[in-house]
Amino acid sequence: MFKLFRQWRRQRIIERSTVSSGSWDTAFRQLPLLDRLSEEEQDRLRRLAILFLHEKSFVGTYDLEVSEEMRLLIALQACLPILHLGIDWYSGWTTIIVYPAGFAPEREVVDEFGLVHTVKSKLIGEAWQRGPVILSWEDTESAGTLDGHNVVIHEFIHKLDMLNGAADGFPPQHKRSHAEAWSELFTAAYADFQDNPKPGLSRYGATAPAEFLAVLSEVFFENPGLLNDAYPKVYEALSLFFKQNPI
Ligand SMILES: [Zn+2]
Repeated sequence: MFKLFRQWRRQRIIERSTVSSGSWDTAFRQLPLLDRLSEEEQDRLRRLAILFLHEKSFVGTYDLEVSEEMRLLIALQACLPILHLGIDWYSGWTTIIVYPAGFAPEREVVDEFGLVHTVKSKLIGEAWQRGPVILSWEDTESAGTLDGHNVVIHEFIHKLDMLNGAADGFPPQHKRSHAEAWSELFTAAYADFQDNPKPGLSRYGATAPAEFLAVLSEVFFENPGLLNDAYPKVYEALSLFFKQNPI
């Protein structure tokens, strides 16, 4: 009963969307990443993006005004990984903060001796557990062009990863058998990646299992053949997880 009501409510949200088809067309044209999708999938993505825009709020920093065009570009790329999973995979948080460019937040970190240091490191995106996703617009604007880098996909993969606890490269799995295979495959691939850089896969992926998953997912969507060449079994596991086969 509640499920039916939810479906009905979502259908109404989609039907009442005020975004014109021209605006959607413009956004799709700016994202070569979405060209491989069938017409049915593009329509599904657009509907998901409408729900996403309804549920999330955007906040610009340093007087940045987050225009409709910007919101559509972020929503479409954010919803690509959940195209066949559903909008509920992004529940439990609401805000997307957009910086004009890279940002350098000051953070306190505790070292191994218990001393607190203030560090400042430059970031282009961040995802907080149950909190906001933060994006640099400069880097978001250049995403979606099939160069293998995509800050939007990267940060939203962290969100999926954090659905079952801290980001550790192990998002919730659809089946127990997938979970076992995932652990083995990713542990082996991550260990290999530490010693053997692969062309087209950012070395940032070697810094932590969560970053490995995020970097590999960027390539899965942006340059799937390259990932399949480097780690075919990992490609297969990602394909089962996302329920998509971009190749
Ligand atoms: Zn990351």
